Amino acid sequence: MPLDACTRKTLSDSFGREVNYLRLSVTDRCDLRCTYCMAERMTFLPKRELLSIEELEKLVGAFIDLGVRKLRLTGGEPLVRHGIMSLIEKLGHEVATGRLAELTLTTNGTQLTRFAPALASNGVRRINVSLDTLNPEKFAKVTRRGRLDQVLQGIEAARAAGLQVKINTMGLRGFNDAEIPDLVDWALERGCDLAFIEVMPMGEVEVEDRLGQYWPLGELRSMLEERFTLRDTSFCTGGPSRYCDVLGTQQRIGFITPMSHNFCASCNRVRVNCRGELFTCLGREGSCDLRPALRDSTDISEVHRAIRSALSRKPKGHDFAYAANEISGAVSRGMNHTGG
Ligand code: SAM
Ligand code: SF4
Repeated sequence: MPLDACTRKTLSDSFGREVNYLRLSVTDRCDLRCTYCMAERMTFLPKRELLSIEELEKLVGAFIDLGVRKLRLTGGEPLVRHGIMSLIEKLGHEVATGRLAELTLTTNGTQLTRFAPALASNGVRRINVSLDTLNPEKFAKVTRRGRLDQVLQGIEAARAAGLQVKINTMGLRGFNDAEIPDLVDWALERGCDLAFIEVMPMGEVEVEDRLGQYWPLGELRSMLEERFTLRDTSFCTGGPSRYCDVLGTQQRIGFITPMSHNFCASCNRVRVNCRGELFTCLGREGSCDLRPALRDSTDISEVHRAIRSALSRKPKGHDFAYAANEISGAVSRGMNHTGG
């Protein structure tokens, strides 16, 4: 039975922000090597260091007990994690009983042809698919090994299974600037919302020019306004996107602007990586290891205590910044490690 809103627990930090959203990275591995996210040659964590499927389930249960209502699975690529569907099945029960309001995932789309129907029948209603270009050569270049047709087929499989698909696109100056309006048209034709993301200085990747790649989304929006009429809306999915309606369509476009428009004041989320490290801020190095409480204790209140204690230390915000000639506040941890 759904929990009555009045009896729900809430998890808050010391700045009074309610944290009800967990992003859980189920693996640091991926079948692609996007240039802004990973190095070409990656050393992944030894498999024994990863939380087991049972530990992941226990961890999510503990967060739900404390007030988390929304869960996004991510990675690495969540759909390459061995046993992922058995985890999703179990988490689907949390949705069915009303303990979890939403179960979703962020994926590169390569495995969707195989998994979309099972996702849809296990409580997943919408997913985010990352797609930065519709040009097959550019796609192969930015992902270092991906095939665009595989991802496009995956997106169609997801839509056919009844999943709502939102496209996530990195705004990359000098890479996809010219095709942004076409990407919007493509998403409009398929009834997919689309969100643009500013690249963050995370991870030791081999991008020659991180700074040159950064494209403030205000500029991207101005370019779109030459072709579309955009109107700001208060619509919110619980994530960091600020949305606008595309007038004359049912479509929305989101802008995720960690760099040019910091949204830390309204941050409602935390991240746990596949090793059980809790990051209360994506843009800070500190973390809290939940694995000992998860592995060594049968008492779930140990896990609750560790989570609450970490939350009380959630920082006010990140320190990332791109100035004229330099990047500050960069973190060495890659997005695939923390979970995007
Ligand atoms: N593999 C899945 C995917 O690509 O959707 C999930 C993990 S990926 C790390 C999650 C998101 O992080 C993707 O949308 C990706 O574009 C984004 N991302 C990766 N590196 C980033 C960076 N340096 N700055 C901002 N976003 C980044
Ligand atoms: Fe893999 Fe996603 Fe990172 Fe690309 S952005 S390398 S698909 S984890």
